[in-house]
Amino acid sequence: MSETIFSRIIRKEIPADFLYEDEHCVAIRDLNPQAPVHILVIPRKLIPQLSKQKVEDKEILGHILSVIPLVAEQEGIGGEYRLVMNDGVKAGQTVFHLHFHILGGRLLQWPPG
Ligand code: AMP
Repeated sequence: MSETIFSRIIRKEIPADFLYEDEHCVAIRDLNPQAPVHILVIPRKLIPQLSKQKVEDKEILGHILSVIPLVAEQEGIGGEYRLVMNDGVKAGQTVFHLHFHILGGRLLQWPPG
């Protein structure tokens, strides 16, 4: 499984706007925001995509779901955001290091593209 740019960001080898960090995950601002608030929550562990998770990743994944509302609250969109996770090329995944998009700060349309 090969590293992506996110591993380098997590190791602080290349810059990013960090909003949150703990032992399991980081949250950064997306470089190409699709909404006024667009945050990526990324596990430190390289899990390429949700469908490739291992049994032992359960704790990390549960932890991330508990961190997401805290980061949203911190960034002023608590309780008013969309969570997106693209699993695979056909879903629009471009970086194969699992990440959750938190999008908010505007009215979001449905269905998504
Ligand atoms: P996805 O298409 O779901 O794999 O999402 C990848 C996301 O990573 C996109 O929204 C990109 O804008 C974002 N992205 C790519 N490179 C960087 C970077 N260096 N810093 C922050 N966000 C990035």
